[in-house]
Amino acid sequence: MKKILAALGAILALLVIVVLVRTAQFTPDPIAAGVSAPTIQVDAETAARHLSEAVRFQTISPQPPQGRDREEFEAFINWLSEAYPLVHQNLVLQRISDQTLLYKWVGSDPVTKPILLTAHYDVVPVVPGTEGDWAHPPFAGDIVDGVIWGRGSLDDKSAVIAILEGATALLKEGYAPARTVYFAFGHDEEIGGREGAHGVAEYFMSHGIEAAWSLDEGSFVLEGFFPGIDTPFASINIAEKGYVTVQLTAHAAGGHSSVPPKETAVGILAEAILKLQNNQPPAKMDGPGAENFTTMARHMSFSKRILFANQWLFKGLLVKEMTKEPFTNAQLRTTTAPTMLSGSIKENVLPIEAIGVVNFRIHPRDSIASVVEHVEKTVNDPRVDVSVINNSTEPSEISSAAAEGYKALSRTVSKMFGETIVAPGMTVAGTDSKSYALVSENSYRFNPMTVTPKDLTGFHGTNESLSVENLQKASVFYAELIKATASNTPLGE
Ligand SMILES: [Zn+2]
Repeated sequence: MKKILAALGAILALLVIVVLVRTAQFTPDPIAAGVSAPTIQVDAETAARHLSEAVRFQTISPQPPQGRDREEFEAFINWLSEAYPLVHQNLVLQRISDQTLLYKWVGSDPVTKPILLTAHYDVVPVVPGTEGDWAHPPFAGDIVDGVIWGRGSLDDKSAVIAILEGATALLKEGYAPARTVYFAFGHDEEIGGREGAHGVAEYFMSHGIEAAWSLDEGSFVLEGFFPGIDTPFASINIAEKGYVTVQLTAHAAGGHSSVPPKETAVGILAEAILKLQNNQPPAKMDGPGAENFTTMARHMSFSKRILFANQWLFKGLLVKEMTKEPFTNAQLRTTTAPTMLSGSIKENVLPIEAIGVVNFRIHPRDSIASVVEHVEKTVNDPRVDVSVINNSTEPSEISSAAAEGYKALSRTVSKMFGETIVAPGMTVAGTDSKSYALVSENSYRFNPMTVTPKDLTGFHGTNESLSVENLQKASVFYAELIKATASNTPLGE
């Protein structure tokens, strides 16, 4: 007995030692600091004035899209040609699906695959009645104390302007790319990009064009999001979740509510929804989201690193902890969100049917088909019909974090932002990249701007703004990125 206890004690001690050693060794890779200083000049004041002017065009994508003011979009397109004469003289502009803009900067090397830098210039509406909550009117483009205010100043006119400022700066110094560089600026991203970005992808396909990589909006250089981590964190998203909405229709006999059956259609539906809420597709510590957290965890304190450093032992516990928070949960699984309900038309009339709508965001390990199968199996009630609303998107492929485009992005982040943690990640919402990824070997989702938790409340919300410093830096970023990847000697694999 003593021997057994001693042996158990020894095993336990060994386990503790392994856990502690692994945690101690679980430290950050050296951060590539300041590769070399950026050399391209972008005038901050001009860039700020341009973004301010761009914000004033009310290029709103309303839902439903019928109320869209096409003339505002047209005026914005005309303004672009006046604001960026060098770009319009040197690049070929083509319109796709009427108002999406595809610029082609023809390179001298016809063999190397082109690159595709993208953004969107449509914006979400301002919620009626909240105009007065804005510190500066949403479509005035005020510049106050080094900050540009208004709808679109962050999402995503900032990227349109920064790409064009960067290109202008390069053209001013007589730069000519070796490989071809495309810019695509979508006009309907906020309502799904089914015409704009999708049209660009169709154009590429029908002309046999494939980009080596594309870059679209996504994550940012995040500051102050993670307690205990002071170093800025740049998440370059290499994947995007898919999207499927399922409609559940519960059927039952109608009649007067004074003599109801044991269960009405509403009760049957409620039960089905609860089943889905309580039995979600599994969460796992794999994929880009898990990689993102694991990279970040290397920078945490010793006690917080223990679980991440010893996933061989604590994976289950880690998943349990991470799925408690909506933000981390969404990175590890296909999420389930019941969003809409309808039943009887009158309070005292039994419904003959009740309808519920559940929106799923699909992790790359799952698919539309696997989610629908999961719903049917979980609900498993002949009184409930399951149908799919026709706007689904499969999750994206996972792009390489070792390929040329990622390396160039990562290096340019170091160049522009100094000491920064860079990690691959995943976009949980839908963007135009779902289309661009179809015609690119790899697609990345990242905005070269520093944001704090406060800045993100402006995203689709009130008081959207961007600092002039951020805009200027982003402009130089795109120019440096083009120079690093489209010149005669692009970086090797
Ligand atoms: Zn956006």
